Amino acid sequence: MKRVYNFSAGPSVLPEPALKKAADEMLCYKSSGMGVMEMSHRSKTYEEIIQGAEALLRELLNIPQNYKVLFLQGGASSQFAMVPLNLISKTGTADYVITGQWSKKAAQEASRFGKVNIIASSEDKVFNYIPELKSSSFDSNASYFHITSNNTIYGTRYTSLPETGSVPLVSDMSSCILSEQVDVSRFGLIYAGAQKNMGPAGVTVVIVREYLIGRASENTPIMLNYETHAKSGSMYNTPPTYSIYILKLVLEWLKGLGGIAAMQKINERKAKILYDYLDASKMFKGTVVKKDRSLMNIPFVTENSELNDKFIAEAKAAGLENLKGHRSVGGMRASIYNAMPEQGVLALVKFMEQFERENK
Ligand code: PMP
Repeated sequence: MKRVYNFSAGPSVLPEPALKKAADEMLCYKSSGMGVMEMSHRSKTYEEIIQGAEALLRELLNIPQNYKVLFLQGGASSQFAMVPLNLISKTGTADYVITGQWSKKAAQEASRFGKVNIIASSEDKVFNYIPELKSSSFDSNASYFHITSNNTIYGTRYTSLPETGSVPLVSDMSSCILSEQVDVSRFGLIYAGAQKNMGPAGVTVVIVREYLIGRASENTPIMLNYETHAKSGSMYNTPPTYSIYILKLVLEWLKGLGGIAAMQKINERKAKILYDYLDASKMFKGTVVKKDRSLMNIPFVTENSELNDKFIAEAKAAGLENLKGHRSVGGMRASIYNAMPEQGVLALVKFMEQFERENK
């Protein structure tokens, strides 16, 4: 079996120990005589899995007691609607910062349910920076304030949080959750699709402060109401059972590594290897302003698109896959999520050095 270094933006590389454990347990989970995929979500054995996943997530992220953890379906994209459906009715308005296509989509969806104030946008420079945020421009009457903590396509991240006072801060952390330490108590709600740092596609994690539950607009479908899932321990209907099981295995791996503080150090080291090379290279350039660089998604370009294509093709042949950038940025993007080993980043840089030498 040959595994490549997979730089996909998501779904993406998962930790091998988690995949191996899943393979071992595929046909028979512990002494149950069946695989997790085949198991009733109401069984005692499965209850232990979902409760174990929640307990580990609480421990790793240090989630305060007055927050609920929900395991939902529909991807982060469904949260673009669920957030306003559940939160906007308090005042009818919400603040959004536009730092890429995902936050733009989130704001567009919210505008179907209430008034959206665009506080700032970095669209003028193809989203290559995080805009300066002045609290004086925030609406103190907003029901919530929405940001996208890490912008998967453009490779930017917030390194400090907006001061929103009593207005709850809501963040899409799909592409950075578990990658660096966060103070959950600063947020009213955090959501993240699992398929980058947590597990397979199919489960979306929502971490929500209890007082924000029970405010849904009238006519909110039952399945889209946080209260439904909070009251039933994410068991109102069949949850994405296997995805949650893999998520638990990924969390066990992360805990074994020393938790998020240790992971953050590793991620900073990995990102530095690639950024240092980009800063020194004459051929490859990072596309993001330095202070806002993501630890997870690193876009870069050469000065012409034929050379980009040649690089992507040759990298693939060398076992470095999924390096093509998003079409709106062009060039390349290396997604180096938690499960990407440091050797993968070193192999990429070594290949880039060689490519640069050979294509002068
Ligand atoms: N937000 C961010 C930051 C993302 O990167 C993505 C997907 N790549 C989404 C939202 C959409 O997620 P999903 O496909 O789970 O709906």
